[in-house]
Amino acid sequence: MTISSADAYVCKNIEICDREKKTVEVERQVIYLPGTDCVIRPGVSLAGFTSYRVGGPAEWYVAPRNITALEASIKYAKSQGIQITVLGAGSNLLVSDCGISGLVIGTRHLRYSNLDPETGLVTVAAGESIPNLAWEAAKLGFEGLEWSVGIPGTVGGAVVMNAGAHNGCIADILVSAEVLLSDGTLKTFTASDLGYAYRTSNLQGSKHIVTQATFQLKPGADPAVVLATTKQHKEHRLTTQPYDKPSCGSVFRNPKPYSAGWLIEQAGLKGYQIGKAQVAPRHANFIVNCGGASACDIFNLIRYIQNSVQEHWSIALEPEVKMLGHFQIA
Ligand SMILES: Cc1cc2nc3c(=O)[nH]c(=O)nc-3n(C[C@H](O)[C@H](O)[C@H](O)COP(=O)(O)OP(=O)(O)OC[C@H]3O[C@@H](n4cnc5c(N)ncnc54)[C@H](O)[C@@H]3O)c2cc1C
Repeated sequence: MTISSADAYVCKNIEICDREKKTVEVERQVIYLPGTDCVIRPGVSLAGFTSYRVGGPAEWYVAPRNITALEASIKYAKSQGIQITVLGAGSNLLVSDCGISGLVIGTRHLRYSNLDPETGLVTVAAGESIPNLAWEAAKLGFEGLEWSVGIPGTVGGAVVMNAGAHNGCIADILVSAEVLLSDGTLKTFTASDLGYAYRTSNLQGSKHIVTQATFQLKPGADPAVVLATTKQHKEHRLTTQPYDKPSCGSVFRNPKPYSAGWLIEQAGLKGYQIGKAQVAPRHANFIVNCGGASACDIFNLIRYIQNSVQEHWSIALEPEVKMLGHFQIA
């Protein structure tokens, strides 16, 4: 529904509940952004939008379908003086049980992709899935994304995190990223502008929003060969990592030259559990939600692992997972 008005329109949707069942009257406010099909909703649970399947509500949530709607959402947040949090596929996030204040902008509906068979240049919107793109590229005989097939994030999240696996990473293939700056202007950055290093970029912690990325892949290979390599990487993941339970992948950055998983395993923590959060028996750098975990369980387990590894190895493990919202240190 689009309502044309000079200002954002607040629609009071009064849900009259059945008095006989003694339920309460609930007032919901939905905000329609003028000139767009964009709706900002209050109190949207984020648990279904994160790979951990935990977390409280976003105070406000919107999932724009195009740049105009994205810009309008940002303008609205600014006009209300509320903070913005960007959510990709939520596969590297731990959202607090209390939720997130301000406006959460989900990029999942920002979708398009163009793969040029002549040049191997691939331009994709921020909300596209990285593993889907890897399969699409493989089918066309484009080499360069086979390593990414087990990373369940969006293009935007991967560009920000410098996602990587099997000796490949985003920095190796990124030509440029289109970014919406906090002042509302669109700017194109090259890979060298983004300060890429192991699982990091200078987009992390910034207020910028990645809207699309262009990757240089290598066209002209035999699709059967690229598909076979992609499949091999996927199968390797499925046998060595716990893909059967909700997680965020690796919780800690590897403190080179060590592997975080090895340090945790040697500290005797494989299988250790707090509430319904467990150090995965298959891979110690994964914390899995065994069903019904809270964000607090996961947070407390992260702290416990950090303390144990510090005691055992005198090494401070740094979380790779991004924690959003308020967490209380027990
Ligand atoms: C089973 C599993 C396996 C994994 N394996 C790997 C692996 O091998 N290698 C690896 O690197 N990672 C891995 N991950 C972690 C995760 O998938 C990656 O970090 C991924 O790149 C995150 O993308 P996302 O879209 O889910 O981002 P989110 O988790 O939604 O967000 C991550 C950060 O990026 C920001 N962000 C997201 N989109 C944008 C945007 N468009 N503009 C600006 N900021 C944005 C968010 O605000 C947040 O700070 C794994 C996760 C799981 C669950």
